[in-house]
Amino acid sequence: MTSDSLPVKFKPYTRQTISQAPQWQLLPEELREAVQVVSRVLPFRTNQYVMEELIDWSAVPDDPIYRLTFPHEDMLSPADYSKLRDLVLVKKDEAAIDEAVRRIRLSMNPHPAGQMTHNVPFMDGQPVSGLQHKYKETVLFFPSAGQTCHAYCTFCFRWPQFVGMDDLKFDAKESNELVAYLKLHKEVTDVLITGGDPLIMNTRSLAGYIEPLLSPELSHIQNIRIGTKSVAYWPQRFVTDKDSDDLMRLFEKVVASGKNLAIMGHYNHPAELRTSIAQRAVKRIVSSGATLRMQAPLIRHINEDPKGWAELWTTGVRLGAIPYYMFVERDTGPSHYFQLPLARAYEIFQAAYQSVSGLARTVRGPSMSAFPGKVVVDGIVTIHGEKVFALQLLQARNPDWVRRPFYARFDPAATWLHDLVPAFGEKKFFFEDDAERPHKVVQLATRNSGRYVPQSSNEAIHGIATEA
Ligand code: SF4
Repeated sequence: MTSDSLPVKFKPYTRQTISQAPQWQLLPEELREAVQVVSRVLPFRTNQYVMEELIDWSAVPDDPIYRLTFPHEDMLSPADYSKLRDLVLVKKDEAAIDEAVRRIRLSMNPHPAGQMTHNVPFMDGQPVSGLQHKYKETVLFFPSAGQTCHAYCTFCFRWPQFVGMDDLKFDAKESNELVAYLKLHKEVTDVLITGGDPLIMNTRSLAGYIEPLLSPELSHIQNIRIGTKSVAYWPQRFVTDKDSDDLMRLFEKVVASGKNLAIMGHYNHPAELRTSIAQRAVKRIVSSGATLRMQAPLIRHINEDPKGWAELWTTGVRLGAIPYYMFVERDTGPSHYFQLPLARAYEIFQAAYQSVSGLARTVRGPSMSAFPGKVVVDGIVTIHGEKVFALQLLQARNPDWVRRPFYARFDPAATWLHDLVPAFGEKKFFFEDDAERPHKVVQLATRNSGRYVPQSSNEAIHGIATEA
């Protein structure tokens, strides 16, 4: 029996407990201080496996997994950092800290791409808590017991879920409303169970959410997806945890029901797939009959190297996983710290894609999960003397928009869709003028200095409900 065949007790670390970790004492004082100050705004969560096996402490602070895990001073503006540092370390005024923290968080676009205003579906005139329905065929479900995560990645658009911004939180205690909604919506084929990380839950709780989806009345649901970081940050969940065998039986039960179970694994860096337990986790998932897809955003300081992506996808394919998405870092949280220009993202994607086998070229990217849908940068080309980004929507609020090429003026500094301006003298992108659709996205976007700016609008809530 190898050492990673033995059950290990999960030990999480957060701001409150990190000083108990032996590695904490290895950190220089200024890094510890930055973690203590910035984590008031952007909390972190990690565990002993990440600390012991994934972080190279001799390379801190530049080790990519360290940067991925712990908050840094540069994530806040110098003025905010200085003010918060003074409140936390000198004045120790909790009420003033709370006020400053809330102000800074609200300045970080906590729910990008209309999550709170545009994607919440309605049933009997009431919003359905814990659901989002943005794309016709896919419903996102947020079980309340899965609204924490193995990491609290500060670049993640889920971060408000972790920070106790109650008015910005959505989750569901039970699956009753989900099931009722799905019965009314036969066009839905996919349910994505997400969080947080649903695999934080024990198998019994998870089964309570999944098994109702196997009922004959929901035969139109063909794919059940589970978004999870556990594959990378706690692979023991699939191998040695005391209910890991039960988890495999649950996976097998879903597959035996005739549905596809897709585990959507968050892998940010090849180091996450180098350990033997991480590799065994992949093999176990795949041997249950489930599929495992790999996805992650491209983030500055963490995974800017095409060779790293190539290693990740190549290793994944060898073990039986499927490369799926390279995302562009979203316009939320400390995006100034993590984001890369779209032009650079395209270069990295292309270099990595070129160097891998055709079996790994299932991956799509670099893709922005933006207001109209998933916009992929297909290339940078010159057409009739104008240098442009060639773009298309891989997924869209309006299915008619999917795979329709469109072009934006090349801008070497652009990092997101809202930085882009249509090419060839066009006044707007085609999806901004879709008057036939019931939700009239055209009414929800304006142009500011030529740039595309989606607006928040309650009209959109009803619009999505009408469309769905
Ligand atoms: S859901 Fe994924 S990206 Fe978001 S915090 Fe969890 S691990 Fe990080």
